[in-house]
Amino acid sequence: MTTTVANVATRPLNQRTAISLKSVSVLYPGHCQALSDISLEISEGEFVFIVGASGAGKSTLLKLLTHEEVCTSGTVIVEGFTVSGMTHSQIPALRRRVGVVYQNFGLLPDRTVYENVAFAMRVTGAGRRDVVRRIPEVLELVGLQSRPDAFPGQLSGGEQQRVAIARALVNRPKLLLADEPTGNLDPETSLGIVDLLHDINATGATVLVATHDVAIVDKSERRVLEFADGVLVRDEACGRYGRVALETCEEQA
Ligand code: ADP
Repeated sequence: MTTTVANVATRPLNQRTAISLKSVSVLYPGHCQALSDISLEISEGEFVFIVGASGAGKSTLLKLLTHEEVCTSGTVIVEGFTVSGMTHSQIPALRRRVGVVYQNFGLLPDRTVYENVAFAMRVTGAGRRDVVRRIPEVLELVGLQSRPDAFPGQLSGGEQQRVAIARALVNRPKLLLADEPTGNLDPETSLGIVDLLHDINATGATVLVATHDVAIVDKSERRVLEFADGVLVRDEACGRYGRVALETCEEQA
């Protein structure tokens, strides 16, 4: 099956590839074709939105990048790791280079902000001195330096998502994946979270955001990959949530 792409985004030749998918398909048990023959490349330092209706394959794509799901056919390369075909013993090294943020924050409710973030460092074997040095840095980055002792239940939704982002960043990943990061937030708080993701991208991290949130995509004017029923139907360099005329995109580039 050949993928139809409206406008393949171009990239400068000197940029290194962060993510490469070649002819990737995912067939779940029960014959659900979640992704069909996807080929795409994302450069280091790019900020990319993944859009499409529920069930389009957005989460499956993100899960392939951390080896949470494996493709049925094709090749997935992330940060130099050939993820498709990886052995279990190689997975921790991949996951140390990839931070993940989810819609429901996924914080430990009985641990403080500090402990939630520190936990993510300790599981990688980080020593106490590194933890003590790094946590204040990363809490400052997300604007929560004054709340290290708060429990998740004492924070707003936006603040909880900032803790989750701090946790995802604490090991200095090269790649940050966010699956519906604003799905549980009001519009204003959502824009603040997306501004934070842009700030993180400006430090050099590659950022991928799967979303239904029209406002954050349209405001950002970044690369958009649109999926429909597991097929990549649009790859636009300065996209909006919905399709725009190609000429408009070219004028803005
Ligand atoms: P999206 O994130 O765009 O909502 P998903 O990637 O979650 O889409 O799902 C793509 C398709 O794969 C959907 O039809 C969904 O029902 C199906 N699917 C997702 N996960 C599984 C699974 N573990 N087993 C079987 N089918 C699945």
